[in-house]
Amino acid sequence: MKIINSPDEMREFVRTTKACGKSIALVPTMGALHEGHLSLVDAARKCADVVVVSVFVNPTQFGPNEDFEKYPRQFDEDAAKCEARGADVVFAPAAADIYSKDFSTYVNEEQISGYLCGRTRPKHFRGVTTVVTILFNIVKPDIAVFGEKDAQQVSVIERMVRDLFMDVKIVRAPIVRDENGLALSSRNRYLDKLERIGAARVHNALEAGKKLAESGCDNIDRIKALVINTVANAKTRVIYAEVVDAETSLPVQSYERGKCRISIAVWYGQTRLIDNIRI
Ligand code: AMP
Repeated sequence: MKIINSPDEMREFVRTTKACGKSIALVPTMGALHEGHLSLVDAARKCADVVVVSVFVNPTQFGPNEDFEKYPRQFDEDAAKCEARGADVVFAPAAADIYSKDFSTYVNEEQISGYLCGRTRPKHFRGVTTVVTILFNIVKPDIAVFGEKDAQQVSVIERMVRDLFMDVKIVRAPIVRDENGLALSSRNRYLDKLERIGAARVHNALEAGKKLAESGCDNIDRIKALVINTVANAKTRVIYAEVVDAETSLPVQSYERGKCRISIAVWYGQTRLIDNIRI
């Protein structure tokens, strides 16, 4: 497995790979890799000849008071995990090589990005769409794999790819959870042992909402209320709990079986968690 830091070297690798007629799948990550990320590598390997995993903690998607500085960084461990999982390249550029000092060009999706996480993280999706565009321009992937853990993020990226005629196929991969149901996340390491067990209530609340919907309740307010009540305890503060369209992540007026998703974001102690379930 190759480790490439320089964008120019990455482009050279891409040129040679394409000249051999090989297809490329990209798995964009911010590192601190866990089984959720590695399941994306597995999905990528099924879709293309060469798998590139990018590891880049993207400064432009963090707000001024967010956890950019303390975000976990463990490059050597990440590279070893990628190699063990059969990735061909880890692309890990330095922030200064991606963002010039006078960087001034952003990509902005203007509809989906305004809801859910976009309400409390105003420039977050602008940072995501910008860095993903940069990665697509460097790696020129035929396929890019994203996890449904961040369902709104995939919706925003699918919309960007469609709107800007980007020549890449987006593949969605299912959420990987721990034995208690907590969705794996690099931020779970901010939770202590007890919090980690308690945080499983986020998934339990989504399951309760799903059960209610599947029992025939199509009242979105009732579904939301049950989710919010089920997740509530002394540690949780709900940021949002919404029923949205499963593909676009936009708000829906009525519940249509199998076509919606309950999306939730909560503060669990000092840790911001997001999760969702298809209903
Ligand atoms: P991140 O490093 O958090 O930016 O995530 C990189 C990619 O991994 C994104 O496409 C995420 O949706 C995906 N991902 C993160 N956690 C999980 C999970 N538990 N299950 C599936 N995919 C995930």
